[in-house]
Amino acid sequence: MSTTPPANPLAAMAADLTPKRAISYIRVSTKGQAARGDAAEGFSIPAQREANKNKAAALGAFIVKEFIDRGESARNAKRPELQKMLAYITEHNDIDYVIVHKLDRLARNRADDVDINRVLEQHNVRLVSTSENIDQTPGGMLLHGIMSSIAEFYSRNLAAEVSKGMSEKAKHGGTIGKAPLGYVNKQGKNEHGKRHSWVEVDPVRGPLIAEAFREYATDTWTAKHLTEHLTARGLTQPATSRYPERPMTQSRLIDVLHNPYYRGVVSYQGVEYPGRHQALVDDETWYKVQTVLSAHYNGERRRVHHHHLKTTVCCGQCGSRLIIQNTKNKRGVVYPYFVCSYRQRQRDGCRFKAVLIDEVEARVAELYRTIRITPAQRKRIAALAQRELERIYASRAEHGRQLEQQSRSLLRKRQKLLDAHYADAIPLDLLKQEQDQIAAQLASIEQQRAALSLESHVVQTHLGYVLDLLEDCFRLYMQATPSMKKLLNGVFFTAVAINPQDDASGVSRTATAHL
Ligand SMILES: [Zn+2]
Repeated sequence: MSTTPPANPLAAMAADLTPKRAISYIRVSTKGQAARGDAAEGFSIPAQREANKNKAAALGAFIVKEFIDRGESARNAKRPELQKMLAYITEHNDIDYVIVHKLDRLARNRADDVDINRVLEQHNVRLVSTSENIDQTPGGMLLHGIMSSIAEFYSRNLAAEVSKGMSEKAKHGGTIGKAPLGYVNKQGKNEHGKRHSWVEVDPVRGPLIAEAFREYATDTWTAKHLTEHLTARGLTQPATSRYPERPMTQSRLIDVLHNPYYRGVVSYQGVEYPGRHQALVDDETWYKVQTVLSAHYNGERRRVHHHHLKTTVCCGQCGSRLIIQNTKNKRGVVYPYFVCSYRQRQRDGCRFKAVLIDEVEARVAELYRTIRITPAQRKRIAALAQRELERIYASRAEHGRQLEQQSRSLLRKRQKLLDAHYADAIPLDLLKQEQDQIAAQLASIEQQRAALSLESHVVQTHLGYVLDLLEDCFRLYMQATPSMKKLLNGVFFTAVAINPQDDASGVSRTATAHL
């Protein structure tokens, strides 16, 4: 194995055709778990072995050696098999993967982590986990950024022309489609007589939307009361081609509060670009609103109404949007279905038959079995993701420096206050009040700094993990969280038609799937 590109293309091809070599590493923390494998303790040895074997097969690798650490639970215990494994990797220098059940099976503390990663890196070994959801891992948040850049890669290289155009538009800060509530679409000719379009703040609704964000950020409103308040202040939903002007609803307000467009960005396929439109809310307030929202709405309700497939699927009979309808059976169990929004309004208008969402989901997942990513594509994606990572590190470093500065100036302020108090310039109660405020600000800065200090090699490890998953899109899709699924669907399909007519035509073949 070599890190430099091979000069001989034949040798490179031979390397591609050679099966990959994997090591299976298994660890159980207690003697009991080794045999039983209670859910509380984790998986037994046979279960981990089986999972690792399947993962190897999925990667096109065979397991050349297995290492098992049994009942090594003490923190300071040197796990003998782990040491042997690292020695084996160093000695043979021909291992492609180390497969573990969970990443934390391998490293339990930072010192371990550093050592292990150094050996793996030196010998070009990729660490693979059989069980983890990407978002459950510490690097999950950052990975979302990486996945977005992968999405961007696809939108540039594989998706249909139309989505290419949309992505270009978003990249230049243009608004795609209809402007959100609080803005209006404008069209006209420029001085050269060329037609162009732009987005302006709605003079009535715009200020009310800004007020909605400011008020909700204070965490003193329920969505219902805020909706009533804004309605009383004159906020309405504008007329569309289908509906006349109508009152604001609570769910519409919640959608508004979730939308990053209002802080001046446009999103396309999970990637955010600085928008050309005017922001109605500053970043700080917008993020505060997200915190309040997630505290209030963490449940099923939003998930059901915002199912990740909703943006991907459409009626295969008439092309309308599909909407979600819950049907209760006799025993009171609720089943969510997709129904055609047009048929909903006009019974004879469309012959779409309601489909269980689970069924649609399973069949969309099946589509992923047919997607193949070539090694060359993977390489380009890896380079792209690496760039994205570096960008993230750079911005984190900058953020860290800012926090450091803030913290220093707060400490100076605290000292000054104390000095003033000693000089009898300020009374005790005022001193106390100011000090409490400073302490709270310092605590918040400390928290942010802790969040920034995520070890970069942990992220690197997880990046490798995502790239491995890309080689198996079906698995990637199955392990993805709903938001990631939505992102992936947006990358691979422009629309998935459900219940298609026999003569379904006029849709782009490359990007549309029929189920
Ligand atoms: Zn329909």
